[in-house]
Amino acid sequence: MHDYWEEVGLARGREFIYMDEFCQYEDKDGRHLVLYSDVDRLERELLDFSPADAPVIREFISGIRMCIGFDQPSVRTPLLTRIGKNARMISGFVINGKKMQKWMKTSCGDFAARFSDPLLRQLFSEMWGEKFSILFILFTFAYLHNKNAGYPIGGSMPMSKALESRYLSLAGTIRYKTPVSRIITEGDKAVGVILADGTERRCSRVISAADGYTTIFKMLEGKYIDDRIRNMYDTWPLFPGLIYAGIGVNRTFGEIHRSVSGMNFALREPVEIAGKTISNLPIHLFNHDSSMAPEGKTAITVLLNTEYEYWKNLSADRKAYLAKKDAIGKQLIMLLEERFPGISSQVEMIDIATPATFERYTGNWKGTFEGWQITPENSGSVMKPLVQTLPGLSNFYMCGQWVEPGGGLPTGVMSARRLFKSICKEDRKKFKTTYA
Ligand SMILES: Cc1cc2nc3c(=O)[nH]c(=O)nc-3n(C[C@H](O)[C@H](O)[C@H](O)COP(=O)(O)OP(=O)(O)OC[C@H]3O[C@@H](n4cnc5c(N)ncnc54)[C@H](O)[C@@H]3O)c2cc1C
Repeated sequence: MHDYWEEVGLARGREFIYMDEFCQYEDKDGRHLVLYSDVDRLERELLDFSPADAPVIREFISGIRMCIGFDQPSVRTPLLTRIGKNARMISGFVINGKKMQKWMKTSCGDFAARFSDPLLRQLFSEMWGEKFSILFILFTFAYLHNKNAGYPIGGSMPMSKALESRYLSLAGTIRYKTPVSRIITEGDKAVGVILADGTERRCSRVISAADGYTTIFKMLEGKYIDDRIRNMYDTWPLFPGLIYAGIGVNRTFGEIHRSVSGMNFALREPVEIAGKTISNLPIHLFNHDSSMAPEGKTAITVLLNTEYEYWKNLSADRKAYLAKKDAIGKQLIMLLEERFPGISSQVEMIDIATPATFERYTGNWKGTFEGWQITPENSGSVMKPLVQTLPGLSNFYMCGQWVEPGGGLPTGVMSARRLFKSICKEDRKKFKTTYA
């Protein structure tokens, strides 16, 4: 969200674009549905698309309208506007508390089942996954409507670069390619780390922004947990594994409207990919960001849910693993051909990542790309974020996607901000946001 990035000083100088469409769906009968960012337009589109589902659609739209009032101000919002927005948010929580609880406790799968139209049923259960709490879809559309959810030109890399340069300018040191294998504790106090090459590094505080499971159960050998932490790692569902195909094509897609999360079209026949049957293909055309491909060409991504265990087992045989990725690349190009005839001769590059890839590069547990899903069971932890320390261990802190369900870039950045605020409090220092 733009305000978040602005608050941590990363938005300035960066172009954010706000898109009119969240996504587009096309079914087998050639019906076309657009989920618009503007709530009034979205309501009209859904009602036109399936008048028989009017009661459920109206309920959904009223949920979005309820969330529109929760437009969190950033520290850069002018004081009077900020006071007004905060007052509206607090009164909104008081007035709508019960309704929000109800939405929070409803899964996307349960809500989807109430539609009679098959495409709406499919869309609502697939958009973020069946187990996801629907409240957070309402908030997504509210942010889109408020133009507080944009796309930063250049994607996430300029964000990482901005974080890096800000940290270096504050005299920080970064050591890349230096994995930590253990956290050193003395008398239940974290005092440093042991690197993978055996080197010991002592420090005044240890903060882990790495994978939560590795940090708690490997680097600290599971010595500092309680029932709540055990329950999180035992029962909370992770975001599903992902097959991520990055495809570069020598063509443009002027006829396809730009959208936040792309388009989804029905396949002629269901196909099997890595043990899962799929009947539609979600694709994202980066025709809104010219920095993603040379002029006249376009970057496309295809993201498919997959099982971690399938890829973990397969990756034990490197040759078989690479052959499977290659075969999936070819299969995806053939499937794209159904919607964009001629595209197979325009493909210039293709790169496939799997949960094994994400695990290798980020160390994230089971190769998940975003940590835990927000479900009706754990959604309370989003409203009241988890403590960023571990029971019985002093001098140790955590931030990143493993301190609250939902993960994602905003959680990562805002949890770090929250942590530094509490560390300042410990040190009796005033926390102050400064801008580069
Ligand atoms: C394909 C894809 C699409 C996504 N799309 C979105 C999106 O649209 N919106 C969104 O908000 N989020 C999205 N995400 C999720 C988002 O990228 C993550 O939730 C976010 O990056 C998590 O940030 P983090 O800092 O907690 O963890 P990470 O980004 O995983 O960073 C952890 C860091 O710790 C390092 N590390 C791990 N182990 C060790 C160790 N032992 N020693 C030292 N360092 C270690 C890793 O190398 C890594 O640099 C997407 C992710 C993927 C893969």
